[in-house]
Amino acid sequence: MEKILISACLVGDNVKYNGGNNLTPKLDALLEKYELIPFCPEVEGGLSIPRSPAERIGDKVINQDNEDVTDAYRRGAELAFNICLFLKIKKVILKEKSPSCGSKIIYDGSFSHKEISGMGVTAEYLKEKGIEVYSEEDIDSIL
Ligand code: SF4
Repeated sequence: MEKILISACLVGDNVKYNGGNNLTPKLDALLEKYELIPFCPEVEGGLSIPRSPAERIGDKVINQDNEDVTDAYRRGAELAFNICLFLKIKKVILKEKSPSCGSKIIYDGSFSHKEISGMGVTAEYLKEKGIEVYSEEDIDSIL
C-alpha cells in the first residue's frame, strides 16, 4: 500500500496551536487506499501544544507574541522531507491555510484572518524537493 504523509491534525491528533484538531471526514476513504503517516511539522520542529498562533511574513514566521519562530518551522519542514525520503513517500496531504502546511492559501501576517495566496513553510519546502503536495480539499483527486 502506498504511504502518504499527512498533517497529523487531519487524522484527529490534537496538535493544533490551540490543542485541537482538524479531523477530515475523508479519513476512512484515505485509509482504504493509503498507509497514512501522520506528521505535525510545528510540533516536530520543537513547538509546544498549545502554542501561540503564528503567521508567515515573507520568509519569516512570527507568532502572536511577536517571537520569531522561523527556525522551528524550518526544522519541521526538513524533518518532514527526511521522513518522505526514508519512507519513499511521493505525496503529502497538508492542511490548508496553515503557516506550515498551507499549499495554496495562508494568512497575511496581520493576525486579522485575512487570507492571501501562498504556501506554508513545510508545503513550500516539500514542493521544492519534488514531493506532490495536496491539501485536504484535494483528497477526492487522489482517491
Ligand atoms: S502544523 Fe500542520 S499538522 Fe501541525 S497542527 Fe498545523 S496544520 Fe496541523
